[in-house]
Amino acid sequence: MTQGILIIAEHRQQALRPVSAELITAAQSVRGELGGKVTLAVIGRGGRRFESALALEGVDELVFVETPETEFESDTWEAAITALASELQPALILLAHSVDSMAFAAALAVRQGYGFATDVFGLAIEAGSLLATRGGYGQKLNVELEFPGRATVLLAVRGGSFKPPLGAGRPVTRDFECQIPKARTRNVAYIEPASTGDIDMTAKEFILSVGRGVGEQDNIERFRELAETLGASLGCSRPVADSGWLPKSRQIGQSGKTAVQCKLYIAMGISGAIQHLAGMKHVDTVIAVNTDANASIFTVARYGVVGDMFEIADELEKQFG
Ligand SMILES: Cc1cc2nc3c(=O)[nH]c(=O)nc-3n(C[C@H](O)[C@H](O)[C@H](O)COP(=O)(O)OP(=O)(O)OC[C@H]3O[C@@H](n4cnc5c(N)ncnc54)[C@H](O)[C@@H]3O)c2cc1C
Repeated sequence: MTQGILIIAEHRQQALRPVSAELITAAQSVRGELGGKVTLAVIGRGGRRFESALALEGVDELVFVETPETEFESDTWEAAITALASELQPALILLAHSVDSMAFAAALAVRQGYGFATDVFGLAIEAGSLLATRGGYGQKLNVELEFPGRATVLLAVRGGSFKPPLGAGRPVTRDFECQIPKARTRNVAYIEPASTGDIDMTAKEFILSVGRGVGEQDNIERFRELAETLGASLGCSRPVADSGWLPKSRQIGQSGKTAVQCKLYIAMGISGAIQHLAGMKHVDTVIAVNTDANASIFTVARYGVVGDMFEIADELEKQFG
């Protein structure tokens, strides 16, 4: 009988990736039903340097798997996770949906007979069964997946889908030894991609997004200027991108970008459909401006203005322009 949750931390170039902490929150949403403990494992050479950063609320045990490689190597990661799972017998294994996990997670799931899903952004237990939510058919639908008959399920979770835990924890820590095969690949260097001129909304800390409330293409310029005045990056909802008023790279949401690093998000004329919320509901401070007091965007907003986005834009220009 499997129980508990094994989380695999992700790090690159000696830095912990934010998704590592987000996976802890993902685990909290189902840990009660799955029973057992939550174990967070760091694989790689010198993983103890992340100990204090990962001693977070919701982690029962921190395990360090010392390997010859400092950076990610797929055979090494697969062997380490196989050994950890063999000892812990977890009901659920969570890792980041990333270029790293894509290199080994599917093979690991097949070899070990795990249930498996990638790019997951929602987790729940319904009628005793684990349900994972991901996009389907080119992100046109939300698909809920069950894993009947699978004792262990491996899920690769999309970054930015869960907020990291805020509180500190006092996990038990230990080293874990296992047989690591000789690596067949070697990390030579990381090369930053050449800039394409395309904006990376995932890296922006302050986003002002406009939705269908903007009315028409000619009004976009006004909000581009407002974003510049405030020092924000201009984002949008899907109808605005679909209309070609702003490039797709600026669309926030399930089939667009997740505002991963965003700390302040101003949503103007956006209703707050679940697919839009998927890209920004985790942001600490959301300010919503909408003429409809019942708009769903207000459910995730810390501050809300029931009013006309054009009037509010004028006021903001007056204050900050
Ligand atoms: C599989 C799938 C994936 C999707 N992915 C995404 C995605 O990534 N991102 C995304 O955004 N959507 C996505 N959608 C679409 C989503 O369901 C909504 O249709 C979309 O988010 C609605 O955009 P909106 O809020 O701009 O428009 P609307 O829902 O039309 O809302 C416009 C809002 O503007 C307000 N308003 C109007 N005039 C004013 C004014 N003058 N001042 C202030 N407020 C005003 C209205 O009260 C209303 O609340 C997806 C849908 C599906 C099915």
